[in-house]
Amino acid sequence: MTRPRYPLTTMPKRALNKVVFIDRDGVINRDPIGDYIKHWKHFRFLPGVIQALKHISQKGWQIILISNQAGIGDKKYSESSLKKITLNMLEELEASLVPIHSVFYCLHGKHHGCRCRKPKTRLFRLASKHLAYEKKKTFYIGDKATDVEAGKRFGLKTILVLTGHGKKDSALLKKGFHPNYIVPGLKEAASIVVSA
Ligand SMILES: [Mg+2]
Ligand SMILES: [Zn+2]
Repeated sequence: MTRPRYPLTTMPKRALNKVVFIDRDGVINRDPIGDYIKHWKHFRFLPGVIQALKHISQKGWQIILISNQAGIGDKKYSESSLKKITLNMLEELEASLVPIHSVFYCLHGKHHGCRCRKPKTRLFRLASKHLAYEKKKTFYIGDKATDVEAGKRFGLKTILVLTGHGKKDSALLKKGFHPNYIVPGLKEAASIVVSA
């Protein structure tokens, strides 16, 4: 990022938001390893996740979901199906008093070469557009080595959870892209976020 050339002292002060970025499949819901969540009927919240999200949210953190959904670009399921899954997920969370600030998906195919598919960082940039927060105090929670890489590249702290791909991916971490924490699941990640 380039520094603004105007004097920042004349800008009105904006309160900093408490933001946490979270991956979806394998962190929030069961990841059908090697397959996709194609229909709402296949979506299952992982145990303890709703409580963990509630914990984060009640401490004043805005939750933003950042997820690759290459099955759209690769024509494995439809965009309307993804929309349904997303709306139902948000509705269930809202019913449990867990507001989600926003959800960002990369819909490109795996080999499209886009700039948003993690470990690339465009989704984080888009998600940050209207939010002021401090990157170095902000976490990305994911279950893949590519999640850790994306978070690190964007300048965030990272937590690898051992749900989803986590166990396998904890052995695939690239040099220079090690998470700040490795924890069993979102419950433990939530405790780290709220006490940071
Ligand atoms: Mg995942
Ligand atoms: Zn993309």
